[in-house]
Amino acid sequence: MNEVKPPKKSLLYYYAIVLLVVMLFNFLAMPWMAERQIREVDYNTFVSMVESAQVGQAEIQEQDNRILFTDKDGNTVYKTAMVPDADLTKRLLEAGVSTTGVEIEQTSLLVSLLGWILPLVVFIALGQFMSRKMMQKMGGPNAMAFGKSNAKVYVKSSEGIKFADVAGEDEAKENLQEIVDYLHDPTRYKEIGASMPKGVLLVGPPGTGKTLLAKAVAGEASVPFFSMSGSEFVEMFVGMGASKVRDLFKQAKEKAPCIVFIDEIDAIGKKRDGQLGGNDEREQTLNQLLTEMDGFEGNTGVIILAATNRPESLDPALTRPGRFDRRVPVELPDLKGREDILRVHARKIKVEGDVDYNRIARMASGASGAELANIVNEAALRAVRNGRDRATQADLEESIEVVIAGYQKKNAIMTDHEKRIVACHEIGHALVAAKQTNSAPVQKITIVPRTSGALGYTMQVEEGNHYLMSKEEIENKIATFTGGRAAEEVVFGSVTTGASNDIEQATKLARAMITRYGMSRDFDMVALETVNNQYLGGDASLACSPDTAAEVDRQVVELVKKQHEKAVRILRENREKLDQLSDFLYEKETITGETFMSILNAE
Ligand code: ADP
Ligand code: MG
Ligand code: ZN
Repeated sequence: MNEVKPPKKSLLYYYAIVLLVVMLFNFLAMPWMAERQIREVDYNTFVSMVESAQVGQAEIQEQDNRILFTDKDGNTVYKTAMVPDADLTKRLLEAGVSTTGVEIEQTSLLVSLLGWILPLVVFIALGQFMSRKMMQKMGGPNAMAFGKSNAKVYVKSSEGIKFADVAGEDEAKENLQEIVDYLHDPTRYKEIGASMPKGVLLVGPPGTGKTLLAKAVAGEASVPFFSMSGSEFVEMFVGMGASKVRDLFKQAKEKAPCIVFIDEIDAIGKKRDGQLGGNDEREQTLNQLLTEMDGFEGNTGVIILAATNRPESLDPALTRPGRFDRRVPVELPDLKGREDILRVHARKIKVEGDVDYNRIARMASGASGAELANIVNEAALRAVRNGRDRATQADLEESIEVVIAGYQKKNAIMTDHEKRIVACHEIGHALVAAKQTNSAPVQKITIVPRTSGALGYTMQVEEGNHYLMSKEEIENKIATFTGGRAAEEVVFGSVTTGASNDIEQATKLARAMITRYGMSRDFDMVALETVNNQYLGGDASLACSPDTAAEVDRQVVELVKKQHEKAVRILRENREKLDQLSDFLYEKETITGETFMSILNAE
């Protein structure tokens, strides 16, 4: 993409020039000027001038070993080297030469004064000039040089990102395609009387390709594309952000039809809460944005694109129809989407011909586009590390684990006993999952320690997509989480710290069942928690009385306990298989889903 940016002279530039001039003046001109006024003569000339009474004043500078003297009128200054001369003073007295030397100093004082005062004057003048400019920018409408938006303008170019580079996300692409069409040929839309949405808000979790989609729009539309990040509007001085917004829209209107893209808009679009000590600058910037968005008609051809992963924190005034009329969800990719994204990125590296992308996409369930891009890159890196010139299926599979669970820890040494416990723990998860009909089968289990701290790792696989989870399915999932600890109890009769992550996840699920999914005995369909950040981890905050909260806690414990007991029961019933499988895993360190199932089903 071509980036066009007007050249801008900074303050530093001006300062540097002034400094250079002053330095040149001091180092070159000053000594030259000073020298020029003093004429050098030899000692004999001095003596003869004294005797013929042509000398006005004289100064004997013994340290410098020279004599400065003037002629009768004091116009010219002479200099001579001092020669040891006992009669000098006597001769000077006789000739009536004054030896104060005050007058002589004054000439060179003027020169040095010039050398110091001149730069001072220049600096003061510059300071005045600058402060006047500052005043202008704080208030006036002619604040041109400051508060200017530094939006990057992209113009269409052949090497730009196209919709074809964005895999999956078909609905989002369709939405944006319509806008690109409109900008290319608005008459078709105008004839029927349709006006385009003024603003389109892309919302979704991090790494799902929101920024990428906006770039693709820039690549597809043959109109100017202004791109700016929300945080770039935020400045130290109140009013700067607002003036940047004003400038951005002024530029945009001049270039219409065009697209303005504001990435991470939540930086300026946060709800105005009216609290004490609120952020004045941010609110002014937001107000300016709201005004600007109202300021142009539907058909001027300026379309605003914005992206955020915190739509719930945006000010309602910003998201109402008429400003951002359209909200385009950019969700985590489904199975098909993941496969497509893998293929798009695999085009950029050299891959062995027989790679099964579907299998990899199934293994990387829940991964975002950015993670998938990372997986492909890690696979290429791994191929190079192993001295191959093509990435293989194994590379891709290993890099899923790298991206999700961290690198293999090469020198982590587990004791023999620890290794047995980890094997047993991981098989516990898998066995409980496999024995409950509704749980997804495992793809692979390894007990190679990872840099993320996980000692073992069970990769679950979802067969297809599903969007709803039944109560039984969630309960089974909780049972699976407790399966690791349960296996330790069944086999070793003691417990370890290895289950901390399992405990956290099981608790989260159980809590959500009761407080958000209405799956408890006696709270019916009452929401006891509200989700704060849908796309960023989904933290929730409690919205109920302390009594209810205590009851929720009790029920969460009860629920997890029940599933834990179920897991223990399943493992007791299948004790033989548990031992057999954990021995296998202990020896081989890795077991695939197929091997697992064949051992489980063997008689
Ligand atoms: P965000 O939604 O956080 O703005 P980005 O658009 O910056 O995410 O995506 C980060 C990177 O992830 C992209 O540069 C791209 O390499 C990859 N990526 C994400 N989604 C997709 C997708 N749908 N198709 C292809 N690559 C994607
Ligand atoms: Mg982004
Ligand atoms: Zn575990």
